[in-house]
Amino acid sequence: MNLIQESFQRLFPEKEFSYQTYFEYNRRLSDFNANIHFNRKKISLHLNLQWKDIDNEIKIGLIQTLLLKVFKKKNKFSTPNINLYNNFVRNIPTLTKKTKSDPTLADSFSRVNQQFFFNQIEKPNLTWGRDSIRKLASYNFHDDTVTVSTIFKDAKIEILDYLMYHELLHKYHKFKHKNGRSFFHTKQFKEDENLYPNKNQLEKEINQIIRRNKIVPKKQSFFSFFK
Ligand SMILES: [Zn+2]
Repeated sequence: MNLIQESFQRLFPEKEFSYQTYFEYNRRLSDFNANIHFNRKKISLHLNLQWKDIDNEIKIGLIQTLLLKVFKKKNKFSTPNINLYNNFVRNIPTLTKKTKSDPTLADSFSRVNQQFFFNQIEKPNLTWGRDSIRKLASYNFHDDTVTVSTIFKDAKIEILDYLMYHELLHKYHKFKHKNGRSFFHTKQFKEDENLYPNKNQLEKEINQIIRRNKIVPKKQSFFSFFK
């Protein structure tokens, strides 16, 4: 079965399939990652090797999700395969290997897990990201990883724990998928987030840290006057 063609035709039954295809599994992409390249004649798909043993019906959902991206469909819709795929992604964290940790983040994880989740959350990969002031912290379902911006490396533990809490809520609540869109900060998520003690004060302090880390603009250069 040509998975790309199969995915395409289930997605667009009225359209003719007239593309060359290329499909490969590789080790270069990170865990459970995949990407698509598309030009008028050819559709190429690269999947991380971990996808190899996954059921074809789930893979078709993944490919359809990628196809909808490249064909830039405005009215995104869902298919049974896309729903299957999203259910699978929600459960990837239980399948991934835990290879990354860090003592400071691991301590934060343990405190938050105990205080707010009855130690129910399985420890994810924990890692410092870059010194980003836009992406403060994130949770990635594909490799079960919490990443925290290094601007918080010296922050007090209350702040680190609050960021950790937010990211673990993502792991806990997973996400909702509807009409081709994924929703992460659901009403329930926000309700739980608001339970955090001293939330407003901590957010103020986080904003102060962000401001301190903003790069001071260099002297305006000559050329910029002509813009
Ligand atoms: Zn979030």
